Amino acid sequence: MTSRRLTLILVLAAVCGALVSAQRGRGSIRIQAGEECPPGTTLTRPGECSRPELPPPTIVDYRPRSTLVTAEHKVPKAKYPVVDNHNHTNITAANIEQIIAEMDALNLRVLINLTGGDAAGVKQKMDFIRASKYPNRFRVFANVNWNNADAPGWADRAVKDLEQAVANGAIGLKIFKQLGMDTRRSDGSRQKIDDPVLEPVWDACARLNIPVIIHTGEPQEFFSPIDMHNERWLELALYPSRRQNAPGGPSFDDLMGERDRMFKANPKTRYIGAHFNWYGNNLGRAAKQLDETPNLVLEVAAVLYDFGRQPRGARDFFIKYQDRILFGKDSYAAEEYPYYWRVFETSDEYFDYYRNYHAFWKLYGMDLPDAVLKKLYYQNALRVTPGLPHDGWDR
Ligand SMILES: [Zn+2]
Repeated sequence: MTSRRLTLILVLAAVCGALVSAQRGRGSIRIQAGEECPPGTTLTRPGECSRPELPPPTIVDYRPRSTLVTAEHKVPKAKYPVVDNHNHTNITAANIEQIIAEMDALNLRVLINLTGGDAAGVKQKMDFIRASKYPNRFRVFANVNWNNADAPGWADRAVKDLEQAVANGAIGLKIFKQLGMDTRRSDGSRQKIDDPVLEPVWDACARLNIPVIIHTGEPQEFFSPIDMHNERWLELALYPSRRQNAPGGPSFDDLMGERDRMFKANPKTRYIGAHFNWYGNNLGRAAKQLDETPNLVLEVAAVLYDFGRQPRGARDFFIKYQDRILFGKDSYAAEEYPYYWRVFETSDEYFDYYRNYHAFWKLYGMDLPDAVLKKLYYQNALRVTPGLPHDGWDR
């Protein structure tokens, strides 16, 4: 071999080596199994982290445009009429015509305002609804004041007011998330959800044949450290009041445990777990709970992002438990309902959700069978809540 040929080979080898190391990224860092990439770097190969050469956008600003070309089936109107079992809209002379027009366009037949208030509040709302042109399109649930529930006479007063609220037209009882998180006993301690002092109210609901819809706690990650592993980081960064990780407060499992024991201790009372009891991200846990708690149904408000990211598992679950799931939305926004219809009714893939801070991921359709859609949209609600208007439904 001549020395010129040797030089050429050495030069070629050096060029190849430089190309390989350029491909490995500038300043790449090796990590061991179980280690994470250091801040500012990302995993580019198994065991290898690299630092982007360009300044990275923040998660607030990063909005990649999808190049996926695939079938789209927007669903502006639900396939069957719908009962929204979880709403908070007070119907007034000022908004009723616009809301009816929106409900008709969406195929929302009945809207249930869960913020009915005490007996007097329910009366004022139901008197307006009954006297309106649309007496069968709106209903209200009553609320109970749980403060100082351990004080003498509380249970009698609470039950009397609830009975009067039902006489005034309330068709259920709503429990807000304050019970368990903020509500206090007379000594200032936290009122637990499974405290037997609350039982006279559960008994009254069974006797009055009304369901109890309960919202307990917050999504699991609201109780976790707000760091770059928290999948709700953006929401927690945007909304300080949603952070539940202050020391001394109840944990996610404390609250879920209290609520779930209360369901079981009161088998004659019919409960609706709002927001899927926050088990939408763990359908195995939801299935076990439904199997063990025959007096419970679940409601889907504000957890669409959990079904839409596991469309096959969610589909199986909704088919298996088709008699145990109700529709609900929580915040009334006419432009948001069609996202629910699209997830439930289509097999569309990889489409946007309507709130970046709920879900930085895309949604997929569950393609539910018609018989399941009917149960989800209205048939289960008619069974669970006898006070709903029962005429005019296709059974
Ligand atoms: Zn609500």
